[in-house]
Amino acid sequence: MDSTATLSPRGEERVRLGHPWIYKSDVHDVSAAPGDVVQVRGPRQRVLGYAFFSDRSQITLRMLVRGEATIDAAFWRARLDAALAFRRLLAPDATAFRLVHAEADLLPSLIVDQYGEYLVLQTLSQGTERLAPLLVPLLVELTGARGVLARNDPRVRLLEGLEQKVEVLHGAVPASIDVREGNIRYQVDPWHGQKTGLFLDQRENRLAAAGYSGGRVLDCFSYTGGFGLQMAPGADRVESLDISATAVTQITANAQRNSVTTLHAREVNVFDELRHLEREGARFDAIVLDPPAFAKNKASLQKALAGYKEINLRALRILQTGGFLVTCSCSYHVDEATFGQVVYEAAVDSRSDVTVVEKRMQARDHPVLLGVPETYYLKCFILRKLA
Ligand code: SAH
Repeated sequence: MDSTATLSPRGEERVRLGHPWIYKSDVHDVSAAPGDVVQVRGPRQRVLGYAFFSDRSQITLRMLVRGEATIDAAFWRARLDAALAFRRLLAPDATAFRLVHAEADLLPSLIVDQYGEYLVLQTLSQGTERLAPLLVPLLVELTGARGVLARNDPRVRLLEGLEQKVEVLHGAVPASIDVREGNIRYQVDPWHGQKTGLFLDQRENRLAAAGYSGGRVLDCFSYTGGFGLQMAPGADRVESLDISATAVTQITANAQRNSVTTLHAREVNVFDELRHLEREGARFDAIVLDPPAFAKNKASLQKALAGYKEINLRALRILQTGGFLVTCSCSYHVDEATFGQVVYEAAVDSRSDVTVVEKRMQARDHPVLLGVPETYYLKCFILRKLA
């Protein structure tokens, strides 16, 4: 292997601290082609490890391993094996979950989700894009998957100079896959659904929310209805709100599929509807807030915080005393402490006394890599309004 990259002292320190991303400004010399695995050297030519090289991204190197190693088929097989073994240990109560969570499985920029007998993957850098022809047969061998779909439509691929495309890489992948999560079944569209089809990162939080259901439930930002469907058995009535007409159609279809007759979905803007419900004097025994990432970057942070504050304030106002609020933020730029502060301010303004019943995060099949804050993005607090 001839490809090499030499780091600045600051780059070397980043490797020591375990962060897999080395930015362009910390890379002195590179002799490599786009997507190569390069040997990474320190300022005095000591071998620090091996990384994916990108000639386009600001993230020039993505570390694969520290120290001496041989990066061959056996290396990739071992990495995939380890990721899969961890999921077997978790034994998710579902047929749809994440098998490979990129950096947090030491497979940077590779996402692999399982939906029943099919896999949906994303190769989000030049490195994993080039490796796909090797990785896909390995994944098929290790999982027995009948089909593998590449959902390579995320915009981040443009930063790597890669095109946005969706294509079958193995077998055949249907337009709709039937999956189970706890006692609920969903029909998932792996070709067009959000992310790879479902918000798998909320799987455990949806199951947890079922334990706080009761009376009248409001599920805000419900997408295909997961929270509401999980909470329906414990409730008299569930109202699911989403701004997307397609989502509302899917929620209704999923409710029918699960013989849930108490769930009613409405196509509305949650911001308007919460105001409307408050004016009406409506009261709910449990409310879920699972909005899209309001802060897509640092510049939009203040506006995002105002958005989170508003929906949490209004939700607390229409929540019954003794009721539960399941409130989430999937913005990486809003960290746990900041989100906690926003929710606290909403409690102050609504003059509610609120306890924290659970502090949750993304499901365990989406692990957080210690020292890499970018891998901790989803916060989910379960709160109780005491008075
Ligand atoms: N809770 C869902 C995931 C929610 S994703 C689950 O567990 O699967 C966020 C959803 O919010 C998307 O479906 C999107 O259509 C919807 N959305 C975005 N902005 C909205 C708004 N202002 N009002 C209502 N829904 C909105």
